[in-house]
Amino acid sequence: MTAEIICVGTELLLGDILNTNARFLARRLAALGFDVLHQQVVGDNPARLEAAVRQAMERSDLLVFSGGLGPTADDLTKETVARCFGDEMRYEPAVMESIRAFFASTGRTTPANNEKQAMVPAKGGWFENPNGTAPAVWFEARGRRAVLLPGPPGELEPLWKSAVEPFLQKGQRRVLKSLVLGLCGIGESHAEELLGHLFRNENPTAAVYAKPAELTIRITAAAPDEAQALAACRDYAQNFYRLAGQYIYGEGEQGLEQALVEALAQKGLTLATAESCTGGLVSQRITAVPGASEVFGFGFVTYANEAKQKLLGVGVDTLAKHGAVSPQVAAAMAAGAARAAGADVAVALTGIAGPGGGTPEKPVGLVWLGAARGDQVFVKRLDIGRRDRATIRRAASSNALDAARRLVLGLPIPGALRAQDIPE
Ligand code: AMP
Ligand code: MG
Repeated sequence: MTAEIICVGTELLLGDILNTNARFLARRLAALGFDVLHQQVVGDNPARLEAAVRQAMERSDLLVFSGGLGPTADDLTKETVARCFGDEMRYEPAVMESIRAFFASTGRTTPANNEKQAMVPAKGGWFENPNGTAPAVWFEARGRRAVLLPGPPGELEPLWKSAVEPFLQKGQRRVLKSLVLGLCGIGESHAEELLGHLFRNENPTAAVYAKPAELTIRITAAAPDEAQALAACRDYAQNFYRLAGQYIYGEGEQGLEQALVEALAQKGLTLATAESCTGGLVSQRITAVPGASEVFGFGFVTYANEAKQKLLGVGVDTLAKHGAVSPQVAAAMAAGAARAAGADVAVALTGIAGPGGGTPEKPVGLVWLGAARGDQVFVKRLDIGRRDRATIRRAASSNALDAARRLVLGLPIPGALRAQDIPE
C-alpha cells in the first residue's frame, strides 16, 4: 500500500517552522509497512489544497494530513478533504463535550468558534484528541483513505500512536523493520566498491547515507510480523559484517561517541582529549553521552601554541620546527594529554579548518590526529578536503572518536603510523 503525506500550513512554506510532522509520519508509516512515495506541503489555501488532494487521490492509497484543523477561518483541511471524498461534515455533540471539558480543565470557557472543531465526517469517523481540541478524522472513498491530524506535534504524535496506528494496522498484512549500522573509516565510494551489490537487493533493502567521516547503512525488511522482519534484517546484516566488519562501530541510532563511552566502560579505561582546530567538539560529543563522567575527566582545548606547551608539554622546538599542524605536534599533544590527565588513552587533533590559513603544503582540510595508549603513540593524516569549516571540524572529531574507540578495543587504526617512525 502506498501512502502520501500532506502537511498544511503557510508557516511551513515560509520556513517559519520546521516540518517535523512529515518526518514523524514518514517514519511511522514506513514502520507500518506503507510505501511513502510522495510528500506535499500546501499553504492555507482551499483551492491549492483541493488540487493537492485530488492529485494524491490519483496515486496513493492512503493520504495522511497534518495541520489546518484549528478553529479559525483559515483552517480548512477538513472541509476541503470532505468535498474530495464525497463526504459531508456533521455536528457531533460528544466532541463538543470533550472540547468543553478540555477548556474547563484549564479554567477557561469555550470560545464560540470551537463549534467548528466539533464537526466530524458523516460517513467517515473521528478519534478523540486527549491533548487538544481538534479531533483527528478520517474519510474513505473509492478504495482511498484519508486521515487528518492536528498540527501541533504534542497532539499529533500521541493521537497517531494511540488511535491512528491501530486503525491502520487492521488493514495491513506486512510490517517493515529496520536495522541501522554505523561505520567510520570507510568512504562512500570505497563502500560502493566493497558493498555495492548488497544495496541492490529486493527484500531486505539496504541503503547507505554519508555524514562527515561516517556512513550509515539502513537495512529494511518487510515481513508478516516484527520478529520475522527483524530476523531478516539481522541475517542480511551478516553480509556487511563479513565484508566491512572492521569499519562498523555500532548498531541502532547510537553515535560514535556512545560506542566510545561504552567501549571505555567495558574495558575500564579512561580517556583524555587535546584539541586545537576542533576547539572542544570532541569533548562536547563525549560529554553528551550520559555516564561519560565515569571514563572522561580531562579535555584540553589548546588553541594557541603557548597552550600546547603549557598544558601538554609540547616542545617549543617541535612547534618551531614542524609547525602546529604536524604529525610531531599531534603525537606530542596526545602523549601530553594522557600524561597530564593520568588517562589510559588520549586523542589529539591539530589542523586547518579554514576557510583561510591554508598553504600548498598545508591546505585547508588537513588535520593531524594523534592517539596514545600507554607508550604506544600513533598519528594519522586526515585529508578532509576543502569543505566548510563546520564539516571539517565535525569530520575531524568523528575520526578522533573512532581512533580512541579502536585503541580502547585493541583494534588497528586504519592508515595510522607509529609516532616513533616519523622523523623528530
Ligand atoms: P494547525 O493544526 O494548522 O492549526 O497547526 C497548529 C500549529 O502546529 C502550528 O502553528 C505549528 O506550530 C504546528 N505545526 C503545524 N504543522 C506542523 C508540521 N508539519 N510540523 C511541525 N509542527 C507543525
Ligand atoms: Mg495551520
